[in-house]
Amino acid sequence: MADVQQFPESIAELVPKFHVLKLPMVTRFRSITEREVMLFEGPDGWAEFSPFTEYGSVESSRWLQAALEFAGLLPTAEVEPSAVGSAAETVGQSVAVNATLPACATSEVGPILARYGPVGTVKAKVAEHGIDSLPEDWDRLREFRRLFPETTLRLDANAGYALPEALAACTEFAEFDLQYFEQPVAAVEDMARLREQLSARELPVVLAADESIRKAEDPVRVAELGAAEVVIVKVQPLGGIAAARSVLEACGLPAVVSSALESSVGLAAGAQLAATLPRTQRSRELLGEHPACGLGTGRLFAEDVVEPAQSLRPVDGQIPVTRIVPDPQRLETLAVDPGRFDWWEKRLQECWTALLSRRS
Ligand SMILES: [Mg+2]
Repeated sequence: MADVQQFPESIAELVPKFHVLKLPMVTRFRSITEREVMLFEGPDGWAEFSPFTEYGSVESSRWLQAALEFAGLLPTAEVEPSAVGSAAETVGQSVAVNATLPACATSEVGPILARYGPVGTVKAKVAEHGIDSLPEDWDRLREFRRLFPETTLRLDANAGYALPEALAACTEFAEFDLQYFEQPVAAVEDMARLREQLSARELPVVLAADESIRKAEDPVRVAELGAAEVVIVKVQPLGGIAAARSVLEACGLPAVVSSALESSVGLAAGAQLAATLPRTQRSRELLGEHPACGLGTGRLFAEDVVEPAQSLRPVDGQIPVTRIVPDPQRLETLAVDPGRFDWWEKRLQECWTALLSRRS
């Protein structure tokens, strides 16, 4: 943005009309059962602003930047690095998404994954109860491999292990032929230590950083510390598609685009980033030609902003790269109560003020 002064101090001049919706979830996730999202429309289409409610205005101002840019209400702040294709070129394409295997009984592995239809990549959650889950996790993964010997497998521990436990888990799980293991430990320094220990033992387990990446500066820090070989990125926390691309260029690590638990409007921005990520040689080696994204989270919602047929729920492991126009009736029926609407209106202004001061 060349000149901050050209932007009004009141966000109402830029975004005169918006909707705040409450989307019920199928199951509790991140300890929430309903997800609140703000939607507004700009010259480029609809966009979603949905930082989690506990996030402060400075952090959330990056989410707002992402939404305003995606709507075409704010020019991008970054110099655009070379992209695979422009937004217009990606329309009509689709991106692969992974299926998710939760911590479940061994007998449930087949039935749960059958609901997804044919998918090339599965992400299995492990470490629900830390290292105590290891025997059940191992049995479940063995069953998965028996049923799906060719399917690409990722693991995600959601930072569930202490460092020595993570090494033990990697040692046990290496035989299942993993594409990568997401965030076995919480601290980025411990991720780096774990990588050293894996390499000293010649254990071929690739680490991916997810929880370690919450802000725009984090991917570069992960790369500098050698904490992971793959980064999981989300459009809104990084400040938008252009910002995410320039951060990824600076960090140089292969990336997998994931959702921040958005409605289909927000998932559309993730799909556009995924379709325009540069494919490096290293990315091809680690993730293949068409890496699956973590954008299949539409399945976690009981309601979306559009009819199921128009939503970005995956079909046969793919979601389309497209723009979503919310159903006007759903904008009404899913609206939050007036108190929550006022809370979001105030938050929108606070985040806009934070965005202006961050960029000035
Ligand atoms: Mg994860």
